[in-house]
Amino acid sequence: MSDAQRLNLVGDSSSAVRLHDMIKAPENTEWAQEKKNSWDATEPATVYHTPEMMPDGTHTTAATVILRTKGCHWWWSSGCTFCGYFNDTRDDVESEDLHAQWEYSKQKLSGFKDMGMIKVYTSGSLLEDREIPVDFQETVLRECHEMGKHLIIESRTEQCNEEKLEWAASINPDFTVAIGLEAYDDEVLRFHINKGFTVNSWNRAVSNLQSAGLRVKTYLMFKPPFMSEGDSLEQCVKWITAVAEQSDEISVNPMNIQRGTIIDRLFRAREYRPPWLWSLVSLIERAHPLIHPEGGINGGDDQVSRLIIHPTAGGRVRGSHNCGSCDKHVVAAIERYSVSGDLLEFEGLDCDCKRIWMNEVKIDTSFPAVLGTGIARRGDILLNLRSP
Ligand code: SF4
Ligand SMILES: [Zn+2]
Repeated sequence: MSDAQRLNLVGDSSSAVRLHDMIKAPENTEWAQEKKNSWDATEPATVYHTPEMMPDGTHTTAATVILRTKGCHWWWSSGCTFCGYFNDTRDDVESEDLHAQWEYSKQKLSGFKDMGMIKVYTSGSLLEDREIPVDFQETVLRECHEMGKHLIIESRTEQCNEEKLEWAASINPDFTVAIGLEAYDDEVLRFHINKGFTVNSWNRAVSNLQSAGLRVKTYLMFKPPFMSEGDSLEQCVKWITAVAEQSDEISVNPMNIQRGTIIDRLFRAREYRPPWLWSLVSLIERAHPLIHPEGGINGGDDQVSRLIIHPTAGGRVRGSHNCGSCDKHVVAAIERYSVSGDLLEFEGLDCDCKRIWMNEVKIDTSFPAVLGTGIARRGDILLNLRSP
């Protein structure tokens, strides 16, 4: 890209800066381009394994394979306000590279021999032909089915059309599609997230997935940009209620700040802070009766869906955090709840900072303060109040 065409961080004086430009600009900076071209296209971004639960409630180990890809087609033309996946992509990844990455992953985890589940993530949609060559889509679908491993992939809604799902289910009849819905609210999708699809497109995708006999996992975003802590709590409970019946699993992703994104700019300008861990505990306590109407736990007969929260970078300033001294206990309890579905995980959990959080939520829900009213949670309170 020539200098004349290059987007800069503040736009030029000839036209107003659009959200689109603000999203795209960091990707075109030298540091981002340099990083992008430094990746080895034949090796995946990450491969690891974690304890997981199979669709039937039994415990297993899951492999997670995050492939190095061309990224997400929505990102190419616009992109979501919090998405930093462009940091991990390369523009020239082809089918042979992806096959090499797949072989590398199999080797690294001994042919997935002790794993019941394989999650294959592509920083976009596995079933999108513009992003992932069809022969590689087929390799993943077929091999996971032949190995008897439950496959989880990620997708936007557009790819979940009847024709594509019919094709995919003919190769692998039992896998899960995780969709980043983020919010069950068109206004939030448009103005806070810039998602590029609507709640109705999610409804259609889910109905197509169910007709194809496939499982649905729904990602919701906790505390999108331009939303206060208190509002986020109120809204997210509503979104869980709206999607629970149609989702086999709901994974709430508390915001974490990825480099070069809109949310990163807000964060550095002190106009946004990642969620409190206490908000996540409160969210779980309020959502639990919707997920287990009889007060049961995961695997019980009353389970409507499974609620999972993994606070990425939990306890760190760029992830969900509390005061600094209670964080690790609260993160651990949230992680335990995601497996057990048992509210007893939070029994006895307390800290002085809980009072500060409660006040913040109370004020946020009493005044129309879009960016929230909280102050920095760590460090000297007087210095925090004095700094701009
Ligand atoms: S749809 Fe997903 S991968 Fe694409 S820009 Fe949005 S968050 Fe990123
Ligand atoms: Zn604390």
